[in-house]
Amino acid sequence: AKGEGKNTYRFYRREMTDKLQRRREMEISLRAAVENGAELELFYQPFVEADRGMVSGFEALLRWRRPGGMVSPGEFIPIAEDVGLMHPIGLWVLRTACLQAMTWPEHLTVSVNLSPIQFRNVDLFRDIRAIVEETGIEPSRLQLEVTESLMLENADAILATLTDLRSLGIRISMDDFGTGYSSLGYLTRYPFDKVKIDQSFVRRMEMSQNLAVIRSVINLSEALGIAVIAEGVETEEHYAALKAEGCPEMQGYHFSRPVPPSDIPAVLMRTYAT
Ligand code: C2E
Ligand code: CA
Ligand code: CA
Ligand code: CA
Repeated sequence: AKGEGKNTYRFYRREMTDKLQRRREMEISLRAAVENGAELELFYQPFVEADRGMVSGFEALLRWRRPGGMVSPGEFIPIAEDVGLMHPIGLWVLRTACLQAMTWPEHLTVSVNLSPIQFRNVDLFRDIRAIVEETGIEPSRLQLEVTESLMLENADAILATLTDLRSLGIRISMDDFGTGYSSLGYLTRYPFDKVKIDQSFVRRMEMSQNLAVIRSVINLSEALGIAVIAEGVETEEHYAALKAEGCPEMQGYHFSRPVPPSDIPAVLMRTYAT
């Protein structure tokens, strides 16, 4: 048994080293990708209005195309955050998404995800304002998505930045709603324009607890005068059920997977009414 413990330890250590090494390699090539700007791309996933089945806007989702294949943002964004690359990446995403949106019909919005790390930069507001001015995007077309984890940062500073952004006309969405702590309080304390009901509730909405959460978020957002969107809508059944619950806007594989910019015209040709 003694020997076994030792082997397990050695195995564990090897696994750790492999993991660290992979991480280190990724860090180096991510740094290069940010510098030469060639391997990063944005894909876009539509938001659909439940009533008419029309596309109302797109969320920009970051992709890293490496010689070996695509790396998921779930894997490389945490690394970018750790090694100080999230600021340049975040600004690249914002600028690229705004420029892309300038080629779309004007009624379409563009949503960009912001990492909590980006809010630690005291220049965030000025950087965003500069990009809005430089690209010429109408601020009301721009939505910034933040998660509840942002609320664990310095509350006064976050509130000030969000308020400044809104005073420009930019919209703020709370992403992954319902997965963090004391969500309800945040909705009244911070200036949100929209909440996104997290995929985990939608994906298994036939469970009564999930349906109860969805219902209460829809009612609450109505009461607070905040818009609401359900994400992770994968089936016709979920679309119909959410529509019956009065959910006004949706996003998910049922309508479209995230697509490269060249596929956006084709997505806009479709309608999604049931
Ligand atoms: P998120 O912001 O919650 O984005 C939704 C994720 O769910 C996306 O994964 C999207 O492709 C996926 N998705 C959309 N509809 C469905 C569906 O019907 N079913 C399922 N199973 N999944 C669906 P993706 O693109 O891999 O992004 C993962 C996360 O990475 C995002 O979650 C976001 O937190 C982060 N991320 C992506 N792009 C950026 C970015 O530019 N900046 C920052 N800070 N984070 C980003
Ligand atoms: Ca998002
Ligand atoms: Ca989300
Ligand atoms: Ca998420």
